Amino acid sequence: MEMAYTILVFVFGLVFGSFFNVVGLRVPLKESIVKPPSHCTSCQRQLTAIDLVPVLSYVFLAGKCRSCGQKISWIYPLMELLTGVLFAFSYWQLGFSEEFVVAIVFISLLVILVVSDIAYMLIPDKVLLFFLPLLAIGRVLSPVTPWWDSIVGAVVGFGILYCIAVVSRGGMGGGDIKLFFLLGLVLGTINTLLTLFVAAVIGMVVGIFVLKVRQQGRKTPIPFGPSIALAAVIVYFYGDVIINWYVGLW
Ligand SMILES: [Zn+2]
Repeated sequence: MEMAYTILVFVFGLVFGSFFNVVGLRVPLKESIVKPPSHCTSCQRQLTAIDLVPVLSYVFLAGKCRSCGQKISWIYPLMELLTGVLFAFSYWQLGFSEEFVVAIVFISLLVILVVSDIAYMLIPDKVLLFFLPLLAIGRVLSPVTPWWDSIVGAVVGFGILYCIAVVSRGGMGGGDIKLFFLLGLVLGTINTLLTLFVAAVIGMVVGIFVLKVRQQGRKTPIPFGPSIALAAVIVYFYGDVIINWYVGLW
């Protein structure tokens, strides 16, 4: 039965992941997320059911539009798969609990902002504002640290990122700063600081990798959102493990 629920949650995640791609791509353009229906961005052909099966459509269509052959970014099936896997993992870790709801809402936020950040180098305010009350209510109903720790975490997260932005003169986007307010609410103070540290490490590795892969001379900035999101998920589930391991080193 556990297995059946895990698969159900996984499929649920795939479908939501597909929707999060639409949200992440359309909200920054101020487009409606329901109208018009999904279409190929190259030839405008409206996508039918066969094009919209999460992950599988991408595989069967070999990553190309059926009419015009325009390549479809692998980011989208990846985000669908990731949503499915993380939803299922949350269920496996937390069961059907209040915290499970917090986890999938949190993961939903992170997936949407990764899509937006990769596509437009932007974390939309609208998305942050939509998730802020949901996550705040979630933390009230399912507290993991004392209530004030969430608030301190939010203020400290926001404050540190704001200082980094001022010192680095725009090296940190406004969206990243506001995002850390939400991370603080969900993760509490210690884990928010840990997320910043882990995100910096991931960002550095990604930066070195991208510099190696890219041809010389191209200097498009690399979005920091995906590194933050990955760090936040790791710390959400394994923050205590990382801190215990670190303390054990001394
Ligand atoms: Zn097309």
